[in-house]
Amino acid sequence: MATGIDFGTTNSVVAQWTGDDVEVLSLDSDHLDSDWLYPSFENLFPTIVGESSLRLGTLFGWEAKLRSNRVIEACKRMLKDDGGIQLRDRRISATAVAAGVFQAMRDRAENNLLTSIDSAVITVPANARGGARYRTRAAARAAGIQVKALLNEPTAAAISYMHDMEEDGRIMVFDWGGGTIDVTVLEHVDGVFEELASRGITQLGGIEVDKRLRNLIFRKVGRSMSLSVGEERELDLAVERTKIRLSVEEAVLTKIPGSSKLIEVTRDELENEIADLVEQALQPARMCLNDLGMDPDAIDGVLMIGGTSQMPCVRHAVERFMNDETVPADICHPMTAVARGAAIAAAIFDNELDSSLVVSSMYALGTGITDPKTNKKTFSTIIKQHSPLPISEEKKYAPIDDNRTSLSVSVWEADPEKPLEDKENFQLTTLQLKYPRPLPAKDATFTLRYTYTQDGLLHVRATLDKTNMVVLDQEITNFTHGNTLTLAEIQRQMTALEGVPRTASAPQPSQSAVGQSGSIFHSSPEASPTKTFIVDGSNIAWGGGDIRRGDLPSFARLLDAVDALKAEFPGATADVIVDAALAHQITHLESEALKDAMRSGLVTQVPAGTNGKADRMVATLASRKKAVVVTNDSFKELQAEFPWLLDGDRVLGATNPGGVWLFLPRTPIRSKRPDVNGR
Ligand code: ADP
Ligand code: MG
Repeated sequence: MATGIDFGTTNSVVAQWTGDDVEVLSLDSDHLDSDWLYPSFENLFPTIVGESSLRLGTLFGWEAKLRSNRVIEACKRMLKDDGGIQLRDRRISATAVAAGVFQAMRDRAENNLLTSIDSAVITVPANARGGARYRTRAAARAAGIQVKALLNEPTAAAISYMHDMEEDGRIMVFDWGGGTIDVTVLEHVDGVFEELASRGITQLGGIEVDKRLRNLIFRKVGRSMSLSVGEERELDLAVERTKIRLSVEEAVLTKIPGSSKLIEVTRDELENEIADLVEQALQPARMCLNDLGMDPDAIDGVLMIGGTSQMPCVRHAVERFMNDETVPADICHPMTAVARGAAIAAAIFDNELDSSLVVSSMYALGTGITDPKTNKKTFSTIIKQHSPLPISEEKKYAPIDDNRTSLSVSVWEADPEKPLEDKENFQLTTLQLKYPRPLPAKDATFTLRYTYTQDGLLHVRATLDKTNMVVLDQEITNFTHGNTLTLAEIQRQMTALEGVPRTASAPQPSQSAVGQSGSIFHSSPEASPTKTFIVDGSNIAWGGGDIRRGDLPSFARLLDAVDALKAEFPGATADVIVDAALAHQITHLESEALKDAMRSGLVTQVPAGTNGKADRMVATLASRKKAVVVTNDSFKELQAEFPWLLDGDRVLGATNPGGVWLFLPRTPIRSKRPDVNGR
């Protein structure tokens, strides 16, 4: 079914085209408490991942918001340069967290509503850069959702409105959500939406309003409060609820956690408290009009989008500034318009709806070139700004000197009017063009072709003009800013997310904690959540390979094994030991990942010069920590020194038959040599 997903920083919303109208799904209303049942809240799926000491497994949506002790919020923000999120003893990528949210929505749709989400149009902020777009797509893909197109949020809101109103015109979308405010001016002519200007403030949202209200309540209590972690979370929720109620009520009583105190706050008081924030929120609107040299009356309609736009004082401020009424919420709903627009777009792309729609690129795409006269780097446009997608364009280039064997091609999203180093210009990545042999510059000219799809993929291809030989042919899957993972890697991390261990103090039957981990591996009965493993990293990275045969170790293989181990033994900790040589034997890309893993403490390197292999350190550490060794080595040489190696339950053999990791207790092979006591 044609589906649209508004993947929000705070809340996500899913809508589907039913054949003649859009239905916004109530994915998770079962978990919505009655005191959070505000209009359209049953349509929201909080973009939150959490865990609770009282519940098994990872929590998503309303359960995560209302019943967690620990939460990961705003993973969407981190998609721009995914540096990872610390989740207990491991780091997990924001992309995998986002994928977990997509998966949870997909599961809810299937289980609660008997509908499926196999493909979708997914919305992204108008100003989202290549990396964030790519990772949003990857997260949805990892959750089994085929991405039909990435659509900018303001365009989606405008589509929803235009679908109902069927008008051409110039629209301002004022989107004030949980974390940011974004204002976009677009023009709609016959199904073509062009974003004319877009401005925003990233740290100004409902969270800031909550902080002010919290301060106000604190002042009213009149003394400092000391709250437990649980009470803090309770107060956060109470404050947010008070704020939401004040959008429709004149005064609200807030209960202070841990006491019987009720504090009254009036709407007037809250409005006074945030007057400067509301004034700041008008700034992006002012800048958009300024960019376009337009007066407010050049705008035909103002759409109020996002939760914070529901505050009456915000609507009034925008109406005063624009000197006009805004579109009422019953025509364009602040919480659901973006998802509705995405679903309508999906229906148009599926030919279920007879209408036309063009998705366009937000920035120009091109490459950085050196001007031979000034020797300065400038931007050379290949795909123009606001081009309809998909699009494929090319341009010819020449190296400035003779006899090069390779050339770096930098790929930029930029504004051709601005100097390359402008902070709004953004380098996506650098690719290497390889010549077959050193060529004189005149024979080394090439055509660079960029192909950009509706779902946010950019393909770069270079062909030598003289011979038509393809010298670069690559889809951009790696970005200058942050990590980008393969689909398999994201999916593996998702398994880990499903198996988030419970807090140690949790009243939990260990057996069911293991069974509920969501891991694809069956846990052995002796698995205990407190197991400690020492992983013989180099041995597993080599995987039985032999340097004399030209084999090389793989760090990815090792990470894979560690993830599988943790998935099989939820709650276990793993220390990974590698020898110093490994860093030099793996590829350059992998050595970056190894450095990351060392920084995060997952992997420890045996200092160079310490006895070649890492066996001794593994055994020593396992001895001290009374841990289980995970390896494929026999450890025969060390049995005399560490007799517990022969106990039968202290060594797990790691093998990977048919792509599945198995960890099986190793029957110790006794060393034939007499041990130190001569027995
Ligand atoms: P995002 O686009 O960031 O995912 P939303 O548009 O869903 O966010 O807005 C969420 C924010 O809006 C939260 O801070 C929430 O408290 C606030 N919010 C939701 N409804 C209301 C309301 N009726 N009045 C005031 N604030 C609201
Ligand atoms: Mg939003």
